[in-house]
Amino acid sequence: MRSPDLRGVGMTSQRTRDRMVSRMREQGIRSSRVLEVMAREPRHLFLDEALAHRAYEDTALPIGHGQTLSQPWIVGRMSELILEQAPERVLEVGTGSGYQTLILARLVTELWSVERINALHRIAASRLRLLKTYNARLRLADGGHGWPEAAPFDAILLTACASELPEPLLSQLVDGGVLIAPLEGHDGRQWLTRVRREGERFEFERLEPVRFVPLLEGVIR
Ligand code: SAH
Repeated sequence: MRSPDLRGVGMTSQRTRDRMVSRMREQGIRSSRVLEVMAREPRHLFLDEALAHRAYEDTALPIGHGQTLSQPWIVGRMSELILEQAPERVLEVGTGSGYQTLILARLVTELWSVERINALHRIAASRLRLLKTYNARLRLADGGHGWPEAAPFDAILLTACASELPEPLLSQLVDGGVLIAPLEGHDGRQWLTRVRREGERFEFERLEPVRFVPLLEGVIR
């Protein structure tokens, strides 16, 4: 990575970040901790230089390999849903650019994040190192298997859409734990869904319609 401008100028300046956060507040993001972290952290460093000037727009942006960095609102929404759980140990499936990973890492005690595409995994790892994100551990793997050695987790976040949740993920939740994921319904639409574990029972709650790339199997080296 070339010596990046951590604070940003012009379209990547603090003013631009503050505008993004005001918009998120208008769109219903309530958690002041989430908004503070997103106002501070450099989203523009998680995109190719050619796209960095668009980092704070209200939109998802391409990160290569057919994948996308989610729009700010959805990153905020998922982060606040995870925080409601007051979690210490969190697993993320789908590191992608690493931006959601960074935001979560600033909000929870320990974070594990899994990505299946090596090129994305490596660049996310270098960005997170640069930003001294020492409480996030990354792994190149099919996140459908979770991270058995680190389980159980207080909360699990999927940033790719499944039609059926991989069983290992559910079994790696603590009792009372929560999994937040985009899930495809029988109608073919995607819903942000909260799954709460109560012993061996899992309660599913549909929250709002969303659009994510699919959760896929296997690893691409
Ligand atoms: N949170 C990311 C969003 C990236 S898009 C960000 O902020 O940039 C979703 C990511 O999930 C993609 O990088 C995709 O490769 C990854 N993914 C899809 N299926 C996966 C799986 N089974 N295991 C791990 N990662 C997966």
